[in-house]
Amino acid sequence: MYDLVIVGGGIAGLCAALAAPEGARIVVIDKGEARAGSSPLAQGGIAAAVGPEDSPDLHAADTIKAGAGICDEQTVRDICAEGPRVIAWLQELGCDFDRSPDGALDLAREGGQTVARSVHWRDATGQEIVRALRRAVQGRNVERVSAPATGFIAIDGTCHGVFTAEERYPAGITLVATGGAGALWGRTTNAQGATADGIVLAMQAGTQVADLEFMQFHPTALDDGSPTQRILLTEALRGEGATLHNERGERFVDELAPRHVVTKAILEQASVTLDCTQILDLERRFPTVVAGARARGFDPVTTPLPVSPAAHYFVGGIAADASGHTSIPGLFAAGECAATGMHGANRMAGNSLLESVVVGRRVGELAALGTSKGRFIHMPLAVARWRPPIVEADPEIAPIMWDDVGPIREETRLHEAIAQLSKLEPTGHTELCLMIARAAAARLESRGVHIRSDYPDQDSAFATRSFDQHHAHAR
Ligand SMILES: Cc1cc2nc3c(=O)[nH]c(=O)nc-3n(C[C@H](O)[C@H](O)[C@H](O)COP(=O)(O)OP(=O)(O)OC[C@H]3O[C@@H](n4cnc5c(N)ncnc54)[C@H](O)[C@@H]3O)c2cc1C
Repeated sequence: MYDLVIVGGGIAGLCAALAAPEGARIVVIDKGEARAGSSPLAQGGIAAAVGPEDSPDLHAADTIKAGAGICDEQTVRDICAEGPRVIAWLQELGCDFDRSPDGALDLAREGGQTVARSVHWRDATGQEIVRALRRAVQGRNVERVSAPATGFIAIDGTCHGVFTAEERYPAGITLVATGGAGALWGRTTNAQGATADGIVLAMQAGTQVADLEFMQFHPTALDDGSPTQRILLTEALRGEGATLHNERGERFVDELAPRHVVTKAILEQASVTLDCTQILDLERRFPTVVAGARARGFDPVTTPLPVSPAAHYFVGGIAADASGHTSIPGLFAAGECAATGMHGANRMAGNSLLESVVVGRRVGELAALGTSKGRFIHMPLAVARWRPPIVEADPEIAPIMWDDVGPIREETRLHEAIAQLSKLEPTGHTELCLMIARAAAARLESRGVHIRSDYPDQDSAFATRSFDQHHAHAR
């Protein structure tokens, strides 16, 4: 029996392992380095109010504004208040964030931030944080298992651990920290393993899910024609002065407007380039971007780069509070797979790393207590039935999701997606995509990252988050 079983060894999962009390029995189950999640890919930085002109209140106000009216404001304030402590903790663990010549932390300004707020290490912040966390975890008594989790041990509405194909891992606390869903859309900045497995498993166990219609498309992925993973050209490039140009060479949008605004503006042009050539010291400051672009045949030092949007961050997920509690006792969620309400209808830059650290650590701290007696989201609990184990996402899903549930949505296309998805084998991934398409079809407005060409305005009748449960749907 474990005190804490963690599914997913990204930043949220590793933070939980480190925050658990000494002596707790912990296992981290991850489906593997080669298919690893988004944490090592994070570029721009982790948002925290550590600058002289910043404050947690200002950070919260920016986050709530970007969230377009449906953030859980208490959660936002709670998590933003933790920002400075999170940075101090990461530094204690050995994270070597960049500093300006006066010795203060060097802060990048990204979309939606009133003041520069993203603490970073060059353009590879996630890699640096993961390096420090992995090293710290090595010094702890944490078991590592390399395998996909295939189900939860759920009895009478309570979670008691995790299955893999080979083994059972019974536990007092089960944390889902399996990251995002970008690969379900094909054209994405995420790794190909980002197929929302943990959300699917939790959903199959009857957990409440939320905000499924909100997928954030990053405006500036390198448009090299790839139908799958694309290189992210971080927003921090635009913060340093990179400019967007249409096919006539004209600038057409405020480069630091929130992501959904820039995404929509780009999609209204015939073709778009990002000109980074005027950034001084581009190779030193953005080595990941420069190396990645050169590997795909583009040189950002000399030539503007072709860009277009790609699926980037899944705002929706397992409904959870700011301490990771879900609607099922014993089951917790943290990081990108969780929907805490922090991001509302649109995630602001740098906030996902912050949320992953804060919520991950809080779940870890509960470990010695066994199944938490804390507050649960009130929702009738489904008695979890046995379901077929999770299988790989059907490759036919991605083109449907990109074409019909992409950055700009419309009723006919959404219903086409529902019809097409309904014809596929009813796996957990297909069921989740159906729920995403239905949620998008039901929100008859444009809000945050959910943009409807047939309902272009925000409508106060829809100024609430959406919650759902799998058994509510019959095919
Ligand atoms: C290119 C890119 C750049 C980004 N830049 C930033 C940034 O600058 N700032 C910011 O705040 N956010 C950024 N983000 C978002 C941020 O990186 C992620 O939201 C965050 O790292 C998620 O962390 P996580 O621990 O929840 O999940 P992940 O880091 O994705 O880890 C999930 C882990 O779960 C494992 N897993 C998945 N399914 C299973 C299964 N069935 N069984 C076992 N293991 C499983 C995966 O292998 C993976 O290791 C970026 C994302 C991308 C893709």
